[in-house]
Amino acid sequence: MTWKPSAISELLHHRARGLSKGDPVALPIMPSSTFLLPGDPDGSHFYGRNGNPTVESVEAEIGLLENAEAVLFPSGMAAVAAILHTQLKPGDKVLVHSDGYYNVRALLQEYFVPRGVIMETCPTAKMAEADMTDFRLVMIETPSNPGLDVCDIAAVADRTKAAGALLVADNTTATPICQQPMDLGADMVLMADTKAMAGHSDVLCGHVASRDTTLINQIRTYRRLGGAIVSPFDAWLLHRGLETLELRVCRANQNALAVAQMLEKHPAVQSVRYPGLPRDASHAVASHQMRTYGPIVSFTLKDRKTAEMFIENNAMSVPATSFGGVHTSAECRIRWGDQVAEGFVRLACGIEPTEDLVIATEKALESLD
Ligand code: PLP
Repeated sequence: MTWKPSAISELLHHRARGLSKGDPVALPIMPSSTFLLPGDPDGSHFYGRNGNPTVESVEAEIGLLENAEAVLFPSGMAAVAAILHTQLKPGDKVLVHSDGYYNVRALLQEYFVPRGVIMETCPTAKMAEADMTDFRLVMIETPSNPGLDVCDIAAVADRTKAAGALLVADNTTATPICQQPMDLGADMVLMADTKAMAGHSDVLCGHVASRDTTLINQIRTYRRLGGAIVSPFDAWLLHRGLETLELRVCRANQNALAVAQMLEKHPAVQSVRYPGLPRDASHAVASHQMRTYGPIVSFTLKDRKTAEMFIENNAMSVPATSFGGVHTSAECRIRWGDQVAEGFVRLACGIEPTEDLVIATEKALESLD
């Protein structure tokens, strides 16, 4: 039988294989900004902006998960900025999701549109039919945050390629555990590792990954010159999270499905979005391209006051923004200006025992007027 260990097993074991007697088994943190360099540079480490051993170890781990080269950044938005800066010039057209993470559009609007980049937007659910003629770059986020619409990545990739454009997929809500956009034709993946990858709500970081050497070298050069370097301490926190990524994502996704199934039947809930529910508009496409459906459930209650009361009364949920952490969190997304109903709640599931989370969420619904 030919057997190839999974990427997670490789992530956990590849380092130990290169160790000698007396070496530390856990990944060391090397916070040096400068490295011994007598004579001329010879490719070894010499300055932290050019390379750091701890950061490179973590990039190698992400590389295993992505089956691609990865470049680490100090936030998800720094990764987005690196892609936009390296790929767009005045006159270029970029097509971006209208319903995904709002700061991607804000960054384009504030700094790229005034310099001659043309931005057009498209809802995630319609990306696979969008006209991509003359576009340089297409950015998708699937499932989208917070609406949880899904687009067919392979179909979008076919259209993007036919138009001669590059396809970038923000895989933050899914993670490589649930979905591999580059296997489906995306040229680059970006992630806010701040979320499930690091997983403990204690560090900001992000990455870009690509199997195209030219693209990933452009990203790496941009980071070296632009200086958006992640600290070795933060990289180490990300490493610590990656070691339990699969366990956490599996539990969080299981929690999300169980909560969504309960919400679907509850009379106080007007509508629920979760790609794992067979009745969800995203289910068919999601089932085709995702292994499991992610940790976020979105649903709508009567109005904002009711939604805030639900959030306050849920003993297993923290009223906070972000997602992908060990604790469940919830918020009314209207407070950030997302195009959602007043009573729309984004519930980002954590890794609590499933029964506790479902019961607490049900009790919070029952406490409403
Ligand atoms: N992409 C998505 C889908 C996000 O949800 C976020 C943050 O919420 C980002 C990118 C940006 O990541 P960061 O906050 O680490 O800059």
